[in-house]
Amino acid sequence: MILIVGAGLAGLSTAYHLNDLPYRVFEKEKEAGGLCRSYQKDGFTFDMTGHLLHFRQPEIKALVEQLLDGRLEQHQRRAFIYSHRTYTEYPFQVNTYGLPPEVIRECLLGFIATLTNPAPPLPPDQRSFKAWILENLGEGMAKHFMVPFNEKLWRVPLEELTSDWVSWLVPKPELKDVINGALGIKDKTFGYNPTFLYPSTGGINVLPQAFLPAVRGIAYDTELVEVETERRRAVFRDGRQGTRVEDYEALVSTIPIPELVRRCVDLPRDIKDAAAGLRWVSVYNVNLGIARERVSDKHWIYFPEPEYPFYRAGFPMNFAPTLGRPGTSSLYVEISHRPHETTPPARLLDLVRQGLERAGIVRQDDEILVADVKDIHYAYVLFDRHRAKVLPAMLRELEHRGIHSIGRYGRWEHTSMEDAIAQGKRLAEKLAAEANGAAGRG
Ligand SMILES: Cc1cc2nc3c(=O)[nH]c(=O)nc-3n(C[C@H](O)[C@H](O)[C@H](O)COP(=O)(O)OP(=O)(O)OC[C@H]3O[C@@H](n4cnc5c(N)ncnc54)[C@H](O)[C@@H]3O)c2cc1C
Repeated sequence: MILIVGAGLAGLSTAYHLNDLPYRVFEKEKEAGGLCRSYQKDGFTFDMTGHLLHFRQPEIKALVEQLLDGRLEQHQRRAFIYSHRTYTEYPFQVNTYGLPPEVIRECLLGFIATLTNPAPPLPPDQRSFKAWILENLGEGMAKHFMVPFNEKLWRVPLEELTSDWVSWLVPKPELKDVINGALGIKDKTFGYNPTFLYPSTGGINVLPQAFLPAVRGIAYDTELVEVETERRRAVFRDGRQGTRVEDYEALVSTIPIPELVRRCVDLPRDIKDAAAGLRWVSVYNVNLGIARERVSDKHWIYFPEPEYPFYRAGFPMNFAPTLGRPGTSSLYVEISHRPHETTPPARLLDLVRQGLERAGIVRQDDEILVADVKDIHYAYVLFDRHRAKVLPAMLRELEHRGIHSIGRYGRWEHTSMEDAIAQGKRLAEKLAAEANGAAGRG
């Protein structure tokens, strides 16, 4: 028996691709989808902040298109940065045109210095995120966007973060592109998502829902509470406080790896201590419905400056107008925080409203129809030296005991919906091959 813990995209994709092999899925919430759930409030549909589909793997794109047959629409990204009271296009490094001349000058001179006077190369495992920024983009871009934006998001000094995750998310430009960007000349698109796909109705929730007809009975409201790894036995508690004990050959866990390791009663002490030292940030997702049409024509906006408490705001009805009522707008705002530091919702809403008014997005006389705060406890994992040192051994030890930890928080990484689906598929294919091999030998 294969037990799958978590019915987010990674767990659903594993079950979907296991086909006829015996498995059971356990989910602690009352519904499937994990972070890809959407919810309705007073005529508005909200995701857990923006959840946009961008693909690098043709087979996963084909699968999602097949699952959501005819329901996806393609959009040309309209992503901007708001700083110095000016909107510039994302990514910052190739779009400084429009900023004050002294800012553009600092960005250009800093970037040129990375080429004419490069820093002595450091081995990748010793290069902090801050050093990566300075080496690749230079002092000006570090000062005017990369450092303030990232410190607002990660809530730690960037010297504490490693740089092994950044290269695909933060494109390194060529000099010609940086100069074109300073002069306002556009001859190509940049970034990992110049276009994206999004469902025309229903929010991103339609994606996990589309897996369900092919996934056999999921036990909802059922939480993994304990694992005896030597005996390969897992204990679950359901909402009625009933306990369920299940033996397994393989356990596929898509829950955050520190939560998994904490629940494994017989793992070595050093693995438990290592998991307890992993760090992450949480995100307040503030969702608003506003009684005015099209408060912005953009898809989303990054805010590097400290006078705005949020690092990003986005506009769901610009992905799909069906996500709100006619004549209104909806928006989401993301504010990261350390996991154990909290701000009361009323205070957050005040701060958000003030920030949005300062940015000219919401007006003083705008009526807020809906205001809702969700706290995404595990949002962004920190790529720090501790993670780099301990994670591979932790995953190996679990695998050795028949536990496959996958998904964004199972592998403790910064990955997308596409990656979660791909990991589930790959693991299911591996487990199926192993089962077939065993059947062949038997
Ligand atoms: C703010 C934010 C914005 C994002 N935007 C995008 C985007 O635009 N595009 C994109 O592609 N990706 C985006 N992502 C990433 C995307 O959400 C994830 O990659 C994907 O949803 C991860 O799926 P998963 O199955 O690995 O994890 P999850 O969705 O976290 O699923 C894990 C499941 O396990 C369940 N669970 C937890 N503990 C237990 C337990 N003890 N017992 C039983 N069940 C349990 C949870 O309830 C959950 O259903 C974003 C992420 C965040 C945080």
